Amino acid sequence: MTATAGQAEQLWSRCAGCASLLYRKRLRRNLDVCPECGEHTRLGAPERLRQLVDPGSLCLLPDRLPEADPIDFVDVLPYPHRLSAARVSTGLAEAVLCATATIGGHPAALAVMDFRFLGGSLGCAVGELITRTAERALDDRVPLILVTASGGARMQEGALSLMQMATVSQAIAALREAGLLTVSVLTDPTYGGVAASFATNTDLVLAESGARMGFAGPRVIRQVTGRALPEGFQTADFLLRHGQVDMVVQRRSLRGRLAALLAAAGTGRPARPPVPRQEPAPHHERLAGATPAADGRRPVGERPPVAVAADGTQPAVRDAWDTVRTARHPGRPTTLDYLDSVFDGFVELHGDRLSGDCPAIVGGVARLAGRHVMVIGHQKGHTTADLVARNFGMASPAGHRKALRLMRLAARLGLPVVTLVDTPGADPGISAEEQGQAAAIAENILTLTVLPTPVLAVITGEGGSGGALALAVADRVLMLQHAVYSVISPEGCAAILWPDRSAAPQAARALRLTAPDLCRLGVVDEIVPEPATAAQDDPAETARRLRAALLANLLPLLDVPPAMLVRLRRQRFRRFGATRTGVRAVAR
Ligand SMILES: [Zn+2]
Repeated sequence: MTATAGQAEQLWSRCAGCASLLYRKRLRRNLDVCPECGEHTRLGAPERLRQLVDPGSLCLLPDRLPEADPIDFVDVLPYPHRLSAARVSTGLAEAVLCATATIGGHPAALAVMDFRFLGGSLGCAVGELITRTAERALDDRVPLILVTASGGARMQEGALSLMQMATVSQAIAALREAGLLTVSVLTDPTYGGVAASFATNTDLVLAESGARMGFAGPRVIRQVTGRALPEGFQTADFLLRHGQVDMVVQRRSLRGRLAALLAAAGTGRPARPPVPRQEPAPHHERLAGATPAADGRRPVGERPPVAVAADGTQPAVRDAWDTVRTARHPGRPTTLDYLDSVFDGFVELHGDRLSGDCPAIVGGVARLAGRHVMVIGHQKGHTTADLVARNFGMASPAGHRKALRLMRLAARLGLPVVTLVDTPGADPGISAEEQGQAAAIAENILTLTVLPTPVLAVITGEGGSGGALALAVADRVLMLQHAVYSVISPEGCAAILWPDRSAAPQAARALRLTAPDLCRLGVVDEIVPEPATAAQDDPAETARRLRAALLANLLPLLDVPPAMLVRLRRQRFRRFGATRTGVRAVAR
């Protein structure tokens, strides 16, 4: 390109909506909205902040964290190379810019995502920075505003990126408890793990004109369903029509609308007294209330030994891709099988009381060694007919809402919750998106961070992304030896980061989705060994081992007062930020 052509390109740009050639300065003066057709051009975080806040009020929060490549991820490029390239091209340290400022004279804390930086993906550093901004809002007793733009979780950080959905959600829960307003502003595009957490579990959700939001992306839904998508699918107007956002706002009105909402929130008295900021408890306090190990039960908070079978042998290491195939084996025991073999007296409860009963989620009361518990799990099946009837264990929004109802019921009745996770992921369907799948998952994640009763999760087969996490924000997370737990399926990851889907076995290895890997990363607390060669070969022995592991982990939790349980659970998920110990820092 000649210098003249390059300069011309900087002066003019072509509208993606109407193809008009626009003078850039004119476009910028119009807040990057096409004066001809109203197309809202995507904004970087610095420009977005400049447009939203009162001039002179902006105070950027620190954005530097120790650089982390927590799982040493390599696809066709090592992850640190992709990070460096993103820094050079955007001039930003990460995919979010955080600040305090005033809007219309009202103070607020803001976190603004930037889609240009690795697709606005949610990694440990992004989660940590947004969480700190929420904590700053709590300290300053001001509202929190989140401007989202993201393709979803950051695959290159594996399950640790998935954990950020819980970490940020519990910071939002703390603001809810303190009576402080939280607002999300959806901008184009907002998808995946961001959509299914802090983009939708805030008090108010605004959509900028032209924004699209959903859990599953349109390409995936088209591929899976083989159907054409309805006109305007997942657009701001679609979201408004389906009750998923409070309003659709033109960019030029956004600042004024936020100012009005902040003004309304600033006039009332919070319904509840402020909750003191929760500092990490000292070690002795973390163990308080737990039973000492003398009777063989492990104190709460103590890391157990990794995967030692009952006979004392270390399980053999198998390849990640082999493990994926084992975890998906149709012969593997399902939730209903475990309800029959591990628990007694299961009474199934149905329905979300709003729209239906999802067959992919089963739940109800049962007894575990004589104690009453609420069990909720994904249900697959052993035959094709079963699998189809259960939607392959992929919950619909009604399923997530049924799970939510049962969790809340359990808390009211003082019953511990045991969840059994076995799902490829949330339902990549049109109606699931129409019915607010992202918000349904987000609300479950947030609710689990505040649930005042013990929660014990077991990944029994496939722990697929947000759909799995919606049942897995728990005090203790156990995993069967040949189960997998991942932010994305290996096939999905391969399709995005490798030249084609046949790289799924490499993706499976890179994602660190096996039980031993996740135990090392602290995502999983304990591995339940499977009989040789896998659970499906000896379901009775698998059930016996699972029952023993459930009891060993549940009994100490029963002695912990509910407030402390919630506090410990939040500490468990707070430590997944970029600065937690154990994350390997890379020299910059
Ligand atoms: Zn235009």
